Amino acid sequence: MNCSACKARIGALRDGELPARDARLVESHLSSCASCRAFAERLDAVEASLVRLTRIEPRQDFTIAVMAGIAAMPVPERQPTRLWWLVIADVALWIAIGALTAFGAIRWKAIAAGAAAFGAKLGVAATTLYGVAIDFHAVPIVALGVGIEIAFLAVMVVAGRKYLSRVRATLSGVLS
Ligand SMILES: [Zn+2]
Repeated sequence: MNCSACKARIGALRDGELPARDARLVESHLSSCASCRAFAERLDAVEASLVRLTRIEPRQDFTIAVMAGIAAMPVPERQPTRLWWLVIADVALWIAIGALTAFGAIRWKAIAAGAAAFGAKLGVAATTLYGVAIDFHAVPIVALGVGIEIAFLAVMVVAGRKYLSRVRATLSGVLS
């Protein structure tokens, strides 16, 4: 068997498709011919790399499957800032104050008088404060409201600090 006949049969030999007699001839030629042996080794190397390629080759619908998988993924929920409950608490507080006032549980005049007396002890013009408070019934309520809102803002600041990272993450998610 000459070299070209051998080389033409190496592939068939590797695949086991060669008749036994031809296989023996090719093998005996390979054992004696360095050139054909080198050719066979190159062929084996190519075959091996092809096998590896086949192994990592994605299946035909890979892209579609990936896109479908992405589409099927749950949309990441945009984290609410969770500060709305503070607003509800604020509204509820005012409703409670209104109700308590209506039922006479909060006696504004007494509170104003007490505040004025306290102010007098501190040396403030208590009678002026008292007079204003009595004449304009809203004033002590407004004063109380300002105090409540300051406390509410303090709560907002504390809660805001707690939720700040979440708010920031939400904002960056919206902006990006
Ligand atoms: Zn040869």
